[in-house]
Amino acid sequence: MRILVTGGAGFIGSHLSDRFLEEGHQVVVVDNLITGSIDNIAHLAGREDFKFIKHDVSNFIFVPGQIDAVLHFASPASPNPNSPFGYPQLPIQTLKVGALGTHNALGVARAHNARFLLASTSEVYGDPQEHPQREDYRGNVDPIGPRSVYDEAKRFAEAITMAYMRYHDLDTRIVRIFNTYGPRMRLDDGRVVPNFLVQALTGKPLTIYGDGSQTRSFCYIDDLIEGIHRILLSDFKEPINLGNPTEMTIETLAEVVNRLTGNSAGFEMLPEQRAAEDPQRRQPDITRAKEILDWTPKTGLVTGLKQTIDDFRGRL
Ligand code: NAD
Ligand code: UDP
Repeated sequence: MRILVTGGAGFIGSHLSDRFLEEGHQVVVVDNLITGSIDNIAHLAGREDFKFIKHDVSNFIFVPGQIDAVLHFASPASPNPNSPFGYPQLPIQTLKVGALGTHNALGVARAHNARFLLASTSEVYGDPQEHPQREDYRGNVDPIGPRSVYDEAKRFAEAITMAYMRYHDLDTRIVRIFNTYGPRMRLDDGRVVPNFLVQALTGKPLTIYGDGSQTRSFCYIDDLIEGIHRILLSDFKEPINLGNPTEMTIETLAEVVNRLTGNSAGFEMLPEQRAAEDPQRRQPDITRAKEILDWTPKTGLVTGLKQTIDDFRGRL
């Protein structure tokens, strides 16, 4: 296949590109580098089966040649207002790429009669009132809250993807990705794993927002990539959760990071940070992915963090 990956210079998109190239496919990355980095795909430069086009997908996308699959991953993804790469500082770009960018990426897929896969998110469930989150849960999203630019853009993206499936008979997939971490995340991305790792590796106290009792469930990148690969090659068209169901508090994550890095600076609680909008619990129900894809994450937190720590050490 010749596969278009929007957002392919980002964390997940670059790992996806590697995976499909390894399997003998051709990859075209379209990315405007707003939160990604050319470093993530530098090792692919010069390959005949790889092409990079620097372009904002919120504008009309033109890719020469046949395309067999479109993997739409372009979007800012960090909710941290303190990072210049977080979507609170890129609100219009985030809304545009979720809406216009998704429309354009669907247009490419339709023009080529290609399969389309949307990178959606656990954020479509908002601050969930059902636990764990199943795909049929409709969510608890504030349409005007600080996270709404991302959450509503992704909800629109799901709606327009389903519309293309129903009305244009496009062959679509929707993956709801839960917190995923690993090598190549930006050091200054602002999400919790990169923040904690940079702080720990530079001997600083880890910044816990709130009281640290909020929970997340962290999936290692290799497991996510395997799941995305399986759903793309399956014929399942309903939304599907991909994530690691092992739930933990942010305080526990901080303790594990400090232990693995030997950081003795501890952590500090910042009660006012993200107080209003931080989802309190998040855990994927992956029954659907288990049944349909025979997929379950294999990498434990310690193993995944060690590999991520090695990568961060090398870049710091
Ligand atoms: P990332 O910031 O590393 O990657 C996003 C990429 O999209 C970047 O390379 C960025 O430059 C590019 N991009 C953004 N807007 C663009 C535009 N208008 N035109 C072209 N390129 C554009 O983030 P990531 O963690 O790799 O996230 C990738 C996708 O997965 C996003 O759609 C995100 O919403 C989704 N996702 C990620 C997670 C996670 O835990 N990492 C969880 C849920 C969903
Ligand atoms: N968080 C934290 N310290 C940080 C960054 C994040 O305690 O330096 C918390 C954040 O408040 C949230 C959790 O970690 O409860 C996960 O945040 P992240 O930004 O990774 O993404 P989210 O899961 O909220 O979308």
